[in-house]
Amino acid sequence: MTHEILPENDPQLKSFIAVAKDHDFPIQNLPFGIFQTNNGQASRIGVAIGDYVLDLVALCDAGLLTTADINVFNNRYLNDFFALGKPFWRATRQTVSELLRDDCVALRDNDELRQRALISQRDVQMLLPFKVAGYTDFYSSKEHATNLGLMFRGEDNPLLPNWTHMPIAYDGRASSVVVSGTDFKRPCGQVLPADSETPIYSASQRLDTELEVGFVVGTESKQGDAINVKEAADHVFGLVLLSDWSARDIQKWEYQPLGPFLGKNFCTSISPWIVMLDALLPFRVAGPKQEPSPLKYLQCTNDWGLNLELSMSLKTPDMQSYEQISATNFRHVYWNFCQQLAHHSMNGCPMQIGDLFASGTISGAEPGTYGSLIELSWGGQTPLKLSNGEQRCFLQDGDGIQMRAWAQGQDYRVGFGKLTGTVLPANNKYEV
Ligand code: MN
Repeated sequence: MTHEILPENDPQLKSFIAVAKDHDFPIQNLPFGIFQTNNGQASRIGVAIGDYVLDLVALCDAGLLTTADINVFNNRYLNDFFALGKPFWRATRQTVSELLRDDCVALRDNDELRQRALISQRDVQMLLPFKVAGYTDFYSSKEHATNLGLMFRGEDNPLLPNWTHMPIAYDGRASSVVVSGTDFKRPCGQVLPADSETPIYSASQRLDTELEVGFVVGTESKQGDAINVKEAADHVFGLVLLSDWSARDIQKWEYQPLGPFLGKNFCTSISPWIVMLDALLPFRVAGPKQEPSPLKYLQCTNDWGLNLELSMSLKTPDMQSYEQISATNFRHVYWNFCQQLAHHSMNGCPMQIGDLFASGTISGAEPGTYGSLIELSWGGQTPLKLSNGEQRCFLQDGDGIQMRAWAQGQDYRVGFGKLTGTVLPANNKYEV
């Protein structure tokens, strides 16, 4: 399908719902999620517009959305919607965009329907938006991979020889992916104390997170078929913000030779809103130059970088509000998602509807642009100094992280809302 800019991306479009120009959810965005109200209605698909959720079941009931089956919208997850295919996703976004325009009377002038279909986001609970089929986390920021390599292996080989030839990744656990706002317990595991040759059992003392963007697969591929890098974008429904909570001490002891395991798979948080790839088409930019040139199956036009501003903030139990600790941009990421998907499927591995693949920590070149605490505190050597006098190298109990992402247009932005998560004390039942 074409990936040219669509009529729904027009910066001139206005909704009859007022949306401030620094709001994440203008009519040019229209991200999809699953929400629930406290009035006993079942969970269903909603689209964010300004401070409201637009209830697609209500629109379908009113005959304003065409589908064979209302249960596609009246659903706990978006997976059945994904299964109807990209032309259907696109047509749905187009219809919703038309219904929300300031010159369209069908919804604007129908008081009864408007009251039923537009619900304040304050009055809904957002749920995990799709059933996660598989979860793969890439490692595609060269700056992050180099920083971690320096800390874990030293200056001799910070970037392993394979890194510039393919998107490196590990398979995570779909079962541990949660929606924003889900607090989680500090993990316990095996760690190797400094100057010791034998491990101990401990709650992680180096709990961290990684600022990432996740891609949601909406179109599957068959086992044995490789996805062509030039067609990979057609498999992606949209993007989420992703917090990859990481226990560095557990990770460090376990990761060789087969990669991350229990240091990573206790919890991964995603934003409740999925921003459709279509909504981000105006924000495509060139990615970093790839040198050496990748193998042919990874070669694509260098215009799948995305100009997404990203920020990460921290709130300790003593603080009233989140304080920003990092700001970076997604365009720095070396391997793009088309290359990640082509690589992931090139051996015949089937992609499933609801697969989630994450970018890897997004770090820029400067210290203030690092996307993880282990980089920001340089392995725990230089604590972050917070404005209230507290210091942090890693996350303590009660600490919360908030992530944001948005593409900045002229007088509007296409954003992801907020992603938050808070650390609860460990359930340390084996401790002696
Ligand atoms: Mn990660």
